Amino acid sequence: MEHTRSEQLFQQASQVIPGGVNSPVRAFKSVGTTPCFIKKASGSRIFDEDGNSYIDYVGSWGPMILGHCHPQVVQAVTAALESGSSFGAPTELEITLARMVIDAVPSIEMVRMVSSGTEATMSAIRLARGYTGRDKILKFSGCYHGHADALLVKAGSGAATFGVPDSPGVPADFAKHTLTAEYNSLESVKALVAENREQVACIILEPIAGNMGTVPPREGFLEGLRELCTNEGIILIFDEVMSGFRVAYGGAQEVYGVTPDMTTLGKIIGGGLPVGAFGGKREIMEKLSPSGGVYQAGTLSGNPLAMTAGIATLTLLQQPGFYQQLEEKSARLADGIARAARDAGYPIYSTRVGSMFCAFFTAGDVHDWPTAAACDTRAFATYFRAMLAEGVYLAPSQFETAFMSQAHTDTDIEATIAAARKSFKLIA
Ligand code: PMP
Repeated sequence: MEHTRSEQLFQQASQVIPGGVNSPVRAFKSVGTTPCFIKKASGSRIFDEDGNSYIDYVGSWGPMILGHCHPQVVQAVTAALESGSSFGAPTELEITLARMVIDAVPSIEMVRMVSSGTEATMSAIRLARGYTGRDKILKFSGCYHGHADALLVKAGSGAATFGVPDSPGVPADFAKHTLTAEYNSLESVKALVAENREQVACIILEPIAGNMGTVPPREGFLEGLRELCTNEGIILIFDEVMSGFRVAYGGAQEVYGVTPDMTTLGKIIGGGLPVGAFGGKREIMEKLSPSGGVYQAGTLSGNPLAMTAGIATLTLLQQPGFYQQLEEKSARLADGIARAARDAGYPIYSTRVGSMFCAFFTAGDVHDWPTAAACDTRAFATYFRAMLAEGVYLAPSQFETAFMSQAHTDTDIEATIAAARKSFKLIA
């Protein structure tokens, strides 16, 4: 497989863009190779500048649940563009998408649109602090909530991949209000809350962690957090930027039957255009400017193209059987990959919730950041490069989640399992 043009472009990019990329994990640095420069994508496939085609399990890091360039989404956005790309004024489209989100997500009574997941979590935390009058926040080691200062503390995703979970440039004074607990350990949360009585504004977590690989919540963990937050007057925030509309139409809160006070969304609700959102109880959301005093704003918030892509995407997700089909395909692939590893004599720990899944390169069980961090990232890097050479495009880090889309075919799944068989043999 030729990568000459991608390599040339990466050199050029590195002259003008730090590290050659506009978001760190894209650089393929931790897997010891250079990134594919993408020319286009369609359905389950992504095509690079050298003319190679790959089965794509990154899906732009989650949004592309329908596959790339779904004709109905393309048509809706193309038509919307003819009417103007941004007004900075309210539109009916924003009401339509707000209503769809409110109808879908149990915890959301009111919602505000922003342009990224980072903005959604940053704003939700400001609102939780404004509402409670408390300063401290509690997050979990290995969870990623975007790159706001207070959240780059023991963060997952690229921050974990590159070994900078606590980024330089974040003053200690900004990070000192962030408490960090261990994922799936209610005891670690209770201890911190007890030490900081009446000071914790919110607990924020990925109800299914997707930024240290895929780590599902253990039975009772979300329920325990809910109870603790209710008793202590703490706002429970589910960051469903990844899991929202992904694991079920109503997200992880629908799957596990636990309703937080606030929810953040992104990725899928923008159908591939830049969107984020945060919502929750009316009583909390009304504290937001201009109905309340907590300030939050955005030039491109509620952008008509993004709203249109979101509306078209969510409409398609309502097709009967959509999530069931995705579940079946994802189970078949994740099981096939695990079997391929076993047959090759290389044990992995396979996790999956709906169409989010991950192969951890460890024989042990993974349920929090320390157990995820114990994985063999060198073996993962070899696997990643082998899969790429076989035409399978995975996230270039052990600490990320793979995503299935509606567009992936049975042939794609069989080809991926066959590629995994070859790749695991290389490592074993
Ligand atoms: N929260 C979660 C759970 C995420 O997975 C991400 C991004 N992967 C974010 C927040 C940040 O979103 P964005 O990259 O759109 O700022």
